[in-house]
Amino acid sequence: MLAVNRKLCAENQALGKRLREAERLLTQDIAEREQAEQELHESDHRFGLAVDNFPGVFIIYDSECRIRFINLPGQILSGRPKSDILGRTDEEIFPPDFYNAYLPIVQRTVETRTVQSAEIAVPLFGGTLVQLVTYVPILGAAGEIRQILGIAQDVTERQKAEEDLYRLNAELEQRIATRTAELAATNQQLRDEILDHAQTEEQMRVSEERFRRIFESDMLSIAFFDLTGRIWDANNAFLAMLGYTRQALGQLEWDQLTPPEWLPVAHQALRDLVAAGSVQPFEQEFIRQDGTRFPIVVGGAMRAGPEREAVAFVLDITERKRAEQALRQANDNLMNWAAELEQRNHEIGLLNEMGDLLQSCLTVEEAYRVIGQSALKLFPNCSGVLFMLDESKDWMENVAVWGNPLLAAAEHVFKPDECWALRRGRIYVVEDAKSRLPCGHFALGNHAPAFSSACIPMMAQGEALGVLSLQYIPAEGEGVTWNEARQRLAVTVAEHVALALSSLKLRETLHNQAIRDSLTGVYNRRYMLESLERELSRAARRQTSVGLIMLDLDHFKKFNDDHGHAIGDVILHDLGRFLQTHIRGEDIAARYGGEEFMLILPDATLEETCRRAEHVRAGIKQVRIQHEGHSYGNISISLGVASYPDHGVTVEELLRVADRALYRAKIEGRDRVVVGA
Ligand code: GH3
Ligand code: MG
Ligand code: MG
Repeated sequence: MLAVNRKLCAENQALGKRLREAERLLTQDIAEREQAEQELHESDHRFGLAVDNFPGVFIIYDSECRIRFINLPGQILSGRPKSDILGRTDEEIFPPDFYNAYLPIVQRTVETRTVQSAEIAVPLFGGTLVQLVTYVPILGAAGEIRQILGIAQDVTERQKAEEDLYRLNAELEQRIATRTAELAATNQQLRDEILDHAQTEEQMRVSEERFRRIFESDMLSIAFFDLTGRIWDANNAFLAMLGYTRQALGQLEWDQLTPPEWLPVAHQALRDLVAAGSVQPFEQEFIRQDGTRFPIVVGGAMRAGPEREAVAFVLDITERKRAEQALRQANDNLMNWAAELEQRNHEIGLLNEMGDLLQSCLTVEEAYRVIGQSALKLFPNCSGVLFMLDESKDWMENVAVWGNPLLAAAEHVFKPDECWALRRGRIYVVEDAKSRLPCGHFALGNHAPAFSSACIPMMAQGEALGVLSLQYIPAEGEGVTWNEARQRLAVTVAEHVALALSSLKLRETLHNQAIRDSLTGVYNRRYMLESLERELSRAARRQTSVGLIMLDLDHFKKFNDDHGHAIGDVILHDLGRFLQTHIRGEDIAARYGGEEFMLILPDATLEETCRRAEHVRAGIKQVRIQHEGHSYGNISISLGVASYPDHGVTVEELLRVADRALYRAKIEGRDRVVVGA
């Protein structure tokens, strides 16, 4: 029982405990519920406060789309009181334009049961209202729509703001771009300026460094001077150039370094320097301490600063001047060479011309004339004489003369040893008769002007042929007239002339050998007969006469016998010479045979022929022939004369008549003239 009591007591205690617990819980629950109700009420109030202050329309629809809640802005927008709105649809409270704009979004929310949101433009009071509309479906446990939450926010301002913002943004971007570009440009400019500045500084530094180096080097002489010309500082190069020591500085004056004739130039430069701030480099001369002079180039500039000072840069141009002089000299030489070359060309042309002319000469006489003319061209202003050695080689004969008669005056003949050129065998030049002996062959009178001369021997096969003598009156102050080139030309001309004359002489000799008798030098019989034939026909044409003289040495056989055949030959030779020198140029002397000779005298009448025959006869009688210390004379000849047309018209007739006349002269006593019958 006790146990039951104890058990009942325990159960009673436990029950009491549970009752107290249940009472505590109930009290607590009631308190909590009261608090929850209080909170709910406060929450509702807060919700109402919140949605009324929401900047937009806030509407709650039921599943039939009837309005169950609308906030204050919604009421204002619909223009109705809350009591007139609740339980109605949008269609009933909003104008159709308004309602139709929202309808598609509401329908999509109902159909899809998802949140739908869109921005729509609705017409309002003649304007446009832009609204962001959101419909949120609130679903039941089975997924059915129980309520729909509609929120509409006016975003007209926002969109405008957005557009403004966009425009502003674009403008800003543009401005930023412009400004960025400006900044970039400014930046670049700044950098350039900095660079420039740095460069300028660098340049100044380099320039200073350079100036310092130049000042310290020997390249350029530099002097600082005040505007009175006093030199108060200079570099070593300047002092060394002039031969002064550093102690001289301060006492040196620009004027003292400048030769008097250069002072005007130096003073003008100083004035220019003061006026313009600098002076372009100009040339003047400087005087060294030892008094010697040298050329310089000097330029100067005023120094920056309040002191009136200047700096001068001086360059010793002795070498340059020397080089210039050398260059000028080289140029002059070149010009002279060119002129000489031209002269040589000209001379070669003239020489060739002379050569051609000499080649076509038939006789030496022709050649002499050509030589005279050519020499005048080759040596303008020169007079000249050509001397040729005669056959005896004992005499020089004057064969051609040209130019100034006063200068060309010369002995007609002279002994070869009277010419220094012939004696020495090479050109002999006398620039001035006072300093060198002229040749003896110049036969100049006392009034002859002072002249220079050149004699050039003409050699052929190692033997002197003659001498070319040229004379020239030098112009005032002309100096050497027979320079090397002229001498060379004269020698060349003499060589040409010698060659041409020797070949002409050779040709003449060969020709003479064919037509002349070698012992007597007169024409041979064959040539005489041809000539007589020619002269007769010419006389017939012209109706003139021809004289014929046949002559024969008297008792020549005996002469040979007495003195020997060789002496006889000498007589024959000299007779030939005598005949040749006692006839006219157009007459012909010939050896007819043995000691018989013939003279043909064109245009001579019979009377004239007789007189000439007598003249020859008398002349021969006077001749004394010298040979090896002996003298031979008293030579007589007999002569027979015939004449065309008096004694005949043919060669045979005339020869016969002359022969007969000669025969008669012999018979009648010899040493006489007999005219043909
Ligand atoms: P003349 O005429 O007076 O009657 O007597 P001549 O003695 O002169 O006559 P002749 O005709 O008898 O002799 C001619 C001489 O001339 C003969 C000859 O010895 C000489 N004679 C001819 N040709 C030459 C020559 O070339 N040389 C030399 N030395 N004598 C010559
Ligand atoms: Mg005789
Ligand atoms: Mg005879």
